[in-house]
Amino acid sequence: MAVRLLTSDTIGKIAAGEVVERPASVVKELLENALDAGATKVSIAVRGGGCDLIEVSDDGSGIAAEELPLAVQRHATSKLSRFEDLDRLATLGFRGEALPSIAAVSALTIRSRPAESRAAAELVVDFGEAKALGRVAAPPGTTVTVRDLFANVPARRKFLRQLSTEAAYIHRAVAAYAAAYPSVQIDFMVDGRRVFGTDGSGDVLAAAVGAFGAETGQAVLALAPLEASAAVPSVEVEGWVGAPSLTRSHRQGLVFFVNGRWIQNRALAFALEEAYHSLLLVGRHPVALVHVRLDPAAVDVNVHPTKAEVKFVDERAVCRAVQRAAHAALARASQDVLPRIRFEPVPPASEPRSVPLPAAARDEGRNGRAESDETGTEERSVPAHPSGVPILRVLGQVGGTYIIAEGPEGMYLIDQHAAHERVLYEKILAELSGQAVDRQPLLDPLVIDLAPEELTAFERSVDELRRIGFEIEPFADGAVAVRAVPAIMRNVDIAERVRLILHELAEGGVGDSWLDAVAISTACHTSIRAGQALSLPEMRELVAQLERSAQPRACGHGRPTMLHMTQADLERQFSRR
Ligand code: ADP
Ligand code: MG
Repeated sequence: MAVRLLTSDTIGKIAAGEVVERPASVVKELLENALDAGATKVSIAVRGGGCDLIEVSDDGSGIAAEELPLAVQRHATSKLSRFEDLDRLATLGFRGEALPSIAAVSALTIRSRPAESRAAAELVVDFGEAKALGRVAAPPGTTVTVRDLFANVPARRKFLRQLSTEAAYIHRAVAAYAAAYPSVQIDFMVDGRRVFGTDGSGDVLAAAVGAFGAETGQAVLALAPLEASAAVPSVEVEGWVGAPSLTRSHRQGLVFFVNGRWIQNRALAFALEEAYHSLLLVGRHPVALVHVRLDPAAVDVNVHPTKAEVKFVDERAVCRAVQRAAHAALARASQDVLPRIRFEPVPPASEPRSVPLPAAARDEGRNGRAESDETGTEERSVPAHPSGVPILRVLGQVGGTYIIAEGPEGMYLIDQHAAHERVLYEKILAELSGQAVDRQPLLDPLVIDLAPEELTAFERSVDELRRIGFEIEPFADGAVAVRAVPAIMRNVDIAERVRLILHELAEGGVGDSWLDAVAISTACHTSIRAGQALSLPEMRELVAQLERSAQPRACGHGRPTMLHMTQADLERQFSRR
């Protein structure tokens, strides 16, 4: 094929793919522009996961009418003129790519009025094609309206997730900025409903509560400047970390800003978590909003198309600064905020583990511990945790409830219900991420009568129940008919367990999403119960499965699965040393 230059339309669409990956990227860019314009109030409204509509209004500096057509051209910016200026950058934007990229893949309207102008100019760009410039009445500031995002790039639309998930990504971005910019009043509406708002009072706690909800108000610990001895020169850390009682089962509650820009950085997240060492149950993660400020020359912001990642000249110094600040804040907090740790940390395994494939979990024998690493590593899978469980030798059962086992580091007591719940929960997650759900059809449909609140819980959860393997539908008179159940529901009274699951969900459930709550509840009410006698092989199989779990130390509800008494503890207790 002959070498040809691409048309400008094609170039625009390709470039847009880099900057606007999904609706949340559009919202982030527009919000950053509003903040760069010095806005004190920003309103964000989205519809249809951001695909139908995104509208961001600010009361910032506005764009002069004659500059408006330029703002939607590639590489047009008011923020940077020479490459060297990148080292002194004080704005969030600098590439001049956001507006043209958004314009290439949506129906875009920008209405903007600098305070000194009498009217606003309005520019309409239809999928890359600029329409006439008009004049309209509007208050000072800028409103950018984005409709039908990606309508002209069907491939991009296909890669989007469910609209509710896209809305959740947008929510995350807006909440992060709302909490990080307490002096800016930020309002967020989804499908016509106000989701949250901050008051713009400049109060950090008020912004945290506005953005992340009332529970944060009870549990944030301010990061204070460190003493000279502990401080890391040239890196400033501000913001807050959550008390150890405020946890999540994922790391999305860890929000980092570097020189005012929201970034993702695993090393920083791990460093911060280290400060909580042994204060949190395994599998739980803290919540924090951390501002890192350092010389712009010490960080490269130009390494990622959406500016979501940065490169530090000295990443370890930044990590150290964050960890020390968090550690100091936690140490200052009074002792009763900190839960007592009742058992020894299990020594970290050499390799991080991942969630085993369901088949591997079933088929591998006691000694086949050849870490099943060919995992469905989709975003819903449990993050691998460095602290694994050593190989354990099962000795017996106490009270029909706890399994006693021995390992290289002493004695372990395992709660059989919590352990089995953890195993089944991860199995469900692995199946969900692998899109292959193991279900077991029933020979005859099972009709189950439900109490009214159980029926309400069923109606709310029917999609999630189907996703994890139930075939279940409404039946006459407040009953449901079950035609298939997840394969993990073996040898149990299905009607009883289904009622228990719905009962828990009716009470509110526990989890990061409703799907998560349904998965946790199903795992809990399907697993072996306390008081159930187990044979030695059954116990061995359970412990082997727990060893292979990504997060073996807590069940889905966050209760511990095991207690550990070290060899040294035993010796001390028996006065051998
Ligand atoms: P960048 O932010 O990298 O400069 P953008 O494409 O996001 O590039 O915006 C281009 C230019 O349009 C900005 O440099 C700024 O001058 C102007 N602009 C965009 N949004 C706003 C806004 N909300 N208020 C004032 N000016 C804006
Ligand atoms: Mg910008």
